[in-house]
Amino acid sequence: MSAREVESIFADIVERARAADPTNARKWFDELKVVRFDGGSIGIGCPDEASVRFLEANCKANFTRIAQQITGHLVSVDFLVGSGAESGQTVETLPPGPALHPDYTFDNFVVGPSNRLAHASCVAVSQSLGATYNPLFLYGNAGLGKTHLLHAVCHEVRRRSAGASIQLLSCEEFVNRFIRAIEQGNITGFHSELRTVDALVIDDVQFLREREQSQEEFFHTFNAIYNNGRQIILSADSPPAEIPSLEDRLVSRFNWGLVARIDPPSYETRIAIVQKKAHLRGLQVSDEMAEYIARQVQANIRELEGALTTIYALATTTRAPVTLELAQRALEGQIRLATRRISIMDIVEVVAKHFDVRLTDLQGKRRSQSITVPRQICMYLARSLTKHSLEEIGGHLGGRDHTTVMHACTKIAEEKQSDPKLQALLAELTKQITQAFLI
Ligand code: ADP
Ligand code: MG
Repeated sequence: MSAREVESIFADIVERARAADPTNARKWFDELKVVRFDGGSIGIGCPDEASVRFLEANCKANFTRIAQQITGHLVSVDFLVGSGAESGQTVETLPPGPALHPDYTFDNFVVGPSNRLAHASCVAVSQSLGATYNPLFLYGNAGLGKTHLLHAVCHEVRRRSAGASIQLLSCEEFVNRFIRAIEQGNITGFHSELRTVDALVIDDVQFLREREQSQEEFFHTFNAIYNNGRQIILSADSPPAEIPSLEDRLVSRFNWGLVARIDPPSYETRIAIVQKKAHLRGLQVSDEMAEYIARQVQANIRELEGALTTIYALATTTRAPVTLELAQRALEGQIRLATRRISIMDIVEVVAKHFDVRLTDLQGKRRSQSITVPRQICMYLARSLTKHSLEEIGGHLGGRDHTTVMHACTKIAEEKQSDPKLQALLAELTKQITQAFLI
């Protein structure tokens, strides 16, 4: 492939990534260049290490998905510093320090009755680590601002003291780093990295459930940091006692400090959030429009932002002014388009790719476990995203009858209730499937 072709494919990838993620695009995508492009992987050169850390943590999944769509191959994407001559320098070898989302600051956080306590306690903690609420435990449903607040604390701590050492990790990163340390026989290194910090911030600790060995490690990490008078901040989707199979000794420690709940935002708060997000993107939003969006989307702030993105994407692609009618068309169109045009094959393709199985297997009669679950997920998604009957869905997926499809849908729906990972996976697959129909 010629250099020109590579450049042009890369330009497509960036353009699509930009459309899918306008917020991050504004700050991070301008200076990217392609530095390596072979059959299996794409290396993307970034101006500095901070960009690499941020992009690796926040944009890799999107870039990978888009690169795979555009190239038609299962390529991987790596962000590297500079020209790529020194390639191999990935996030692993960078100095520690969390990659913070630039927009997740206290200034950009709208305070209302639903999140006032959580916000105030985060501010207090960031002003004097270890001295007020320790640990600080935030909980609430997905999309209500937990991650935003955790990043805001880190921004503020950094602003006040550049030398403060903070570790901000998702629970999964904690577990993965722990496992890697065991594999590499470097538990001491792992301990010294985590136990000596001024603040340890762990997002989504509900993922510790059913991770016995990691819970044990987490317990000792917690004690070491706490006994040193350092700060611990945690988030989860439910209060400590309601996290399934979390050891009692962890539950009790998580309750030692302050446990702050975040509720879904009120109508007024939602309006203010829409205004804030619009402002951040340099968009003009009338009161009427903000009220309209706030009425349409109620439970999840991420979806409020999604609505805003959809409206402005439609305005840009149709070169139409942003009016209330356009907003209505955009949001209603989103639902109508999605239900009318998605086919079972669209679903099967995305699911097959995700599980790395063959299309023909999903559509065939094999019953092995590795195929059964993806197939059930296809059935569930087909049921929720298309108007096909149970018989039609069964017909596309191995000639199953309608009771099998019904059974699969109920099973997945039930498991989704108790399994946040499955819930997140279904949301991600749905996003991938519907994305092509939005713009
Ligand atoms: P969670 O971690 O609870 O699932 P996030 O922190 O990821 O939620 O928030 C989802 C999106 O909603 C983010 O873009 C975040 O900036 C935004 N958001 C949530 N709460 C607020 C708020 N009070 N003010 C402004 N933006 C918010
Ligand atoms: Mg979060």
